[in-house]
Amino acid sequence: MTSLRTLLEDRCAAAPDAIAVEPAGRPGEGTTWTALRQQARAVASALVRDGVAPGERVVLVARNDPSYFPILFGAGLAAAVLTPLNWRLATDDLLSMIDDSGASVVLVDEPVAAALADVLSGRRVVVLGEVPVDGDASWRSLPDWVGPAADPGRTSAPDDVAFQLYTSGTTGRPKGAMFAGPNLAVLIGEIATAWGFRDGDVSLVAMPLFHMGGLAWALAGMARGARAVVVRDFVPGDVLDAIEAHGVTTAFCVPTMLAALCAVPGVDSRPLGLRQMIYSGAPIGEDALKRAMVALRCDFVQIYGLTEATGAFAQLSAEEHREGGPALASAGRAYPWVEVRVVDPGTEQDVPAGAVGEIRTRSVQNMVGYWHRPEETAAALTPEGWLRTGDLGRLDDAGRIHLVDRAKDRIVTGGENVYPAEVERVLAQHPDVAEVAVIGVPDERWGEAVKAVIVPAGASPDPDDIVAFARARLAGFQSPKSVDVVDALPRTATGKVIKPTLREPYWRGHDRRIH
Ligand code: ATP
Repeated sequence: MTSLRTLLEDRCAAAPDAIAVEPAGRPGEGTTWTALRQQARAVASALVRDGVAPGERVVLVARNDPSYFPILFGAGLAAAVLTPLNWRLATDDLLSMIDDSGASVVLVDEPVAAALADVLSGRRVVVLGEVPVDGDASWRSLPDWVGPAADPGRTSAPDDVAFQLYTSGTTGRPKGAMFAGPNLAVLIGEIATAWGFRDGDVSLVAMPLFHMGGLAWALAGMARGARAVVVRDFVPGDVLDAIEAHGVTTAFCVPTMLAALCAVPGVDSRPLGLRQMIYSGAPIGEDALKRAMVALRCDFVQIYGLTEATGAFAQLSAEEHREGGPALASAGRAYPWVEVRVVDPGTEQDVPAGAVGEIRTRSVQNMVGYWHRPEETAAALTPEGWLRTGDLGRLDDAGRIHLVDRAKDRIVTGGENVYPAEVERVLAQHPDVAEVAVIGVPDERWGEAVKAVIVPAGASPDPDDIVAFARARLAGFQSPKSVDVVDALPRTATGKVIKPTLREPYWRGHDRRIH
């Protein structure tokens, strides 16, 4: 049976003096597995002392930091459920998630403590750093709060929830997705193997640890003995420095991070020493991918998945990247232990071979469900155990998944389907376009009309020129009818454009039907 406790004990038995985790930019300041276990025990005994019951949620709101891990494993030793939240969220959203989780203990980093001093007043708060002067009198700093480094000895049953992550909300109100022992087992077992960790690896943990991308990557690597180098703020030049200084061999980024790394002057001549770069999370243009492969000079691997499937369930291998060709347009094949179907959500039947439908997946990776949300759980997981991904795509002859777009973002204009991702891929090639998002806006004649929202690469481009560029490369119904120019697109912590936020001003007073 796998749990956070067994992961910690196994590493302490295998390599007690190896560095488990290190802050990026500060090589030599890492924490060994033995020290991490001591810290985790101190957290666990404090949780038990404070009356945190087995199964109770413990909220953490913090930037990436090595201190995440004693708290994660400490919650595990106390049989509690770490529930990390996105520190970037608005105060009201954070409060509603804290309330939703039912946590009685909330751990926050110093900037969060300072920002939320008023609203968290009266709650039991532990600050990873100094307690702000205007903080509540009952707040404690982490060193004052922790108990003796004594293991409370609580164990978990295999089906007990190990951790809970709130989905980031690009598609609706945040929901706490729950993951138990079997999810952890496949993550640090089969998935870690698929990600190619090797003895002596040093892994870059640059994705947020409150997100499946960051947490799964960190845990899978750590379980395989990779040292986790934790990046606090993603400053591209500093990240490249850290890759060199720590001897990072393997990393996981989203396309926006890759693009930022590749834009650092001189990146392609730096002695980076990376063996592998894994990327995921959003579509990547073929040009951007090729640029990144040249700049970073290592193996590239694409993974596809979503929070509710413990992250990745399909992969495009390094070999397929080297070969190039049409496979590069895909998100790879499902892992051998994962079933995938492509379903017409209207009829619930499989679509004909090669046709577009909703990607569904079934495996031990699927979440247990959403915390306290039976209706939303039933909407996400069929009674037969299939997870509705909400992604539209098709399977090619070789069994590779080609993602078309998110179902909720599809535009229906004059009865024709437009997949914004296809239009975005074309517009991204326009030299004056730095970033682009395509949405449907209400239109009396067509139902919805295609609109491109762009961030210019330099001087503001002529919208007519953008439309003409699209019309020369796409069908008329796919080409934008209008173009708006903005300074920045609203994005999640992992770089995805938040389409509902982008659509909102255009849809005020209208009903947007999801087709
Ligand atoms: P929410 O689900 O609440 O909207 P989110 O988008 O951050 O939040 P995730 O589970 O992190 O949630 O995102 C998963 C989604 O990211 C997938 O459903 C898919 O749309 C997209 N995605 C993941 N991997 C890839 C990939 N390799 N290529 C293209 N898109 C991807």
